[in-house]
Amino acid sequence: MSVVTRFAPSPTGFLHIGGARTALFSWLHARRHGGRFILRVEDTDRDRSTEEATRAILEGMHWLGLDHDEGPYFQSERGERYREVLDDWLATGKAYYCFRTKEELDELREAQRARGEKPRYDGYWRDNDETPPEGVTPCIRFKNPLEGEVVFDDRIRGRVAVANAELDDLVICRSDGSPTYNFCVVVDDYDMGVTDVVRGDDHVSNTPRQINMLRALDVEPPNYAHVPMILGPDGKRLSKRHGAVSVMQYAEEGYLAEALMNYLVRLGWAHGDQEIFSRGEMIEHFDLGDVNHSASTFNPEKLRWLNQQYLKSLHPDDVAWRLRYYLEQAEIDPASGPHLADLVKAQRERSTTLVELVESSRFLFQDFLEWDEKAVRKHLGGAATEPLERVRAELAGLEFPEGWNAAAIHEAISGVAQELELGMGKVAQPVRVAVSGTPVSPPIDTTLELLGRERTLYRLDRAIGRTREAA
Ligand code: GLU
Repeated sequence: MSVVTRFAPSPTGFLHIGGARTALFSWLHARRHGGRFILRVEDTDRDRSTEEATRAILEGMHWLGLDHDEGPYFQSERGERYREVLDDWLATGKAYYCFRTKEELDELREAQRARGEKPRYDGYWRDNDETPPEGVTPCIRFKNPLEGEVVFDDRIRGRVAVANAELDDLVICRSDGSPTYNFCVVVDDYDMGVTDVVRGDDHVSNTPRQINMLRALDVEPPNYAHVPMILGPDGKRLSKRHGAVSVMQYAEEGYLAEALMNYLVRLGWAHGDQEIFSRGEMIEHFDLGDVNHSASTFNPEKLRWLNQQYLKSLHPDDVAWRLRYYLEQAEIDPASGPHLADLVKAQRERSTTLVELVESSRFLFQDFLEWDEKAVRKHLGGAATEPLERVRAELAGLEFPEGWNAAAIHEAISGVAQELELGMGKVAQPVRVAVSGTPVSPPIDTTLELLGRERTLYRLDRAIGRTREAA
C-alpha cells in the first residue's frame, strides 16, 4: 500500500519550530517511500482559528519547501461529511445522544473527585430509552467499547496499551452541532486514506480513542508515530519565552530555509554522525524508527552554525537573489552598491545570517555618518595622514572600471607600506576605518574593489580631513 501522510495544523497561530519539525518528519516519511503528503487545516474551532494563521502556516510550509500533494483541505468545509457519519453512527447504535446537562456533569465530576476517582462520563444515556428531558439540547457521544484494551505499536514510542475501561464515551458532536476534534480527525484520516500519522506526542492520549472510532468505521487504524516535544535551553517546553519560535521569524532574521530544515531534521533524529544533509540525503536516510524517544533541546547556536555553513556552501548567485529582500527591508537599494554575488563571496565568512551580512555591508551601499570612535582614535590619528594621502594618490591613478580590481588595489596599498616602511596593518587599517567607519571588513583590497573608485576616494578625503585635524 502506498504511503499517505498528513500534516494537520490548527490555524490558531503561526507555524512554529515544533510544528515545522512534525511537518518535516511527516513529509520526509512520505517522500522517502514515494508516497503522498496531505495538508489539512483543522479549523473546526471557529473561535480560535483565523485566516491569517492559515496563511502564515502555508507561507511557512512554502518557505521551507514542504510541498504537499493534496490539499489544503479545510475541516470547516467538511461539515456535511461529518454529519453523514454522525447520522450513520446514531442509526447503527455506534453513537448516542446524551442529555446530561452541564450542571449534572459538574455534579458527577465533583462526586467522583470526592471519592478519589478520575472524572469521567458515567454512560448514563448510553443505553437509556428514558424520555429525554425537556429543553435540553443533547450532544452526541461515541460508544467506546467497555472491555478489552487498545494496543498500537508507535513507530517512535514502541508498544502502547490502554484499557478501554480507562476511556469514557467521548463527545463527538457538541450540543451546538459542532463536531469535535477527535471525531473529525478520524473521519478525515479515514477518508483521505492516511496510512501514517506523524504528530506531536501531546496527542498520544487521543490515539486509543481515535483507534476505537476508526474501528467503528470498519477500518484498520493507520500507523502512528508520536514525535517527542522540543525543549528550550532551560529544559522547559520550547515557547516564546525562549526567543523566536516562529519559522517565518527565522526567515525574517536572515536564516536560510535549507539551514532551518537541516537543523530541524537533526532535532531528535540522527544518521550516524552526519550533520549536514541535502534535501536528497534527508529523504534517502530518514527513518521514523530512528527518531529519538526523548525530548530534544533547541540549540540556537547550532542553528547559527548551520546557517553559516549553508551561506558558505550555496552558490553565491543563489544567496544573492535572496539577499535583495533583506537589503530592501534594511532600506538599502540593491542597485546602489556592488554586484550582489561578489558581495556574498566577500562577506559570507564573517556573517551567520543574511541580516548580519546586510548590516555589515551597508557602508558599501550608503555613506555612513556614524564612526566607531574607538577605531577612529586608534587608526585615524595624525600619523595616518601620510599613509592615507599616499594611498589616495596611488588609487586615484587606477582607471575605473578596468584597472579597479583587488590585485591592483593590493599592489597600490602594499607599495605605499613599503615606501613608508610601515607594516601593512598601519596602512590598511586606517584605510579600512576611513572607508567603512569600523575596524572590520573583508580584506582591504576586496573591500575597496566592492566599494568602487569614486566612493573610496571621497571617503579617503573625508578621513584625511579628520586625521589632519587630529594632528
Ligand atoms: N490539529 C492538531 C494540532 O495542531 C493535530 C492533530 C493531528 O495531527 O492529529 O495539534
